[in-house]
Amino acid sequence: MNLPNALTYSHALLSECVGPGDTVVDATVGNGHDTIFLASLVGKTGHVIGFDIQEAALKETQTQLTLTGLASQVELHATGHEHVGDYLTAETPVNGAIFNLGYLPGGDKSLITQPTTTLAAVAELLKHLPRGGRIILVVYYGHPGGKTERNAVVDFCQQLPQRVYQVLQYGFINQVHNPPFLLAIERR
Ligand code: SAM
Repeated sequence: MNLPNALTYSHALLSECVGPGDTVVDATVGNGHDTIFLASLVGKTGHVIGFDIQEAALKETQTQLTLTGLASQVELHATGHEHVGDYLTAETPVNGAIFNLGYLPGGDKSLITQPTTTLAAVAELLKHLPRGGRIILVVYYGHPGGKTERNAVVDFCQQLPQRVYQVLQYGFINQVHNPPFLLAIERR
């Protein structure tokens, strides 16, 4: 069996920390692949809160959720993930969250995630992360602006205090075309 790529590994890491009844966040819904995966992990008693700034992507994802019978446990918001705090009560634990950075494949390549808003959302989610909970960032950085965001998120993660969090970086280092890599923040 081959080593999993960053995207596949992100789902493996989430399936270890998310279960039925949990609340989770898909910070970059896009075409909804992660939303659907998370919705199946949390089940009917759980709760997926999803964000994207592209209404068309959310509409398509909503259709897929309905077709797959997973809509009841998902709420999608047409706003930036930097507002995630507005959709969580202070005491809500978020066991898992995922960010896919960059632009929507097949969509408008100028609508990319930005370091300031990405890090605002991560900082807010850290407040809700229980022990063993994980925030996963799949970092695409080959597009214009991508390296700036990559540097910002890596720098942020490197500065997280070791006694509270452990941060994993996972990715292939001998591939061409800037393959995505993964950062996983886990509260100890
Ligand atoms: N996870 C998605 C999927 O399964 O198809 C792919 C996500 S794509 C790489 C990045 C997405 O982030 C785009 O759909 C883009 O519109 C969205 N985005 C950009 N800035 C955002 C923000 N501030 N808040 C939420 N989503 C944002």
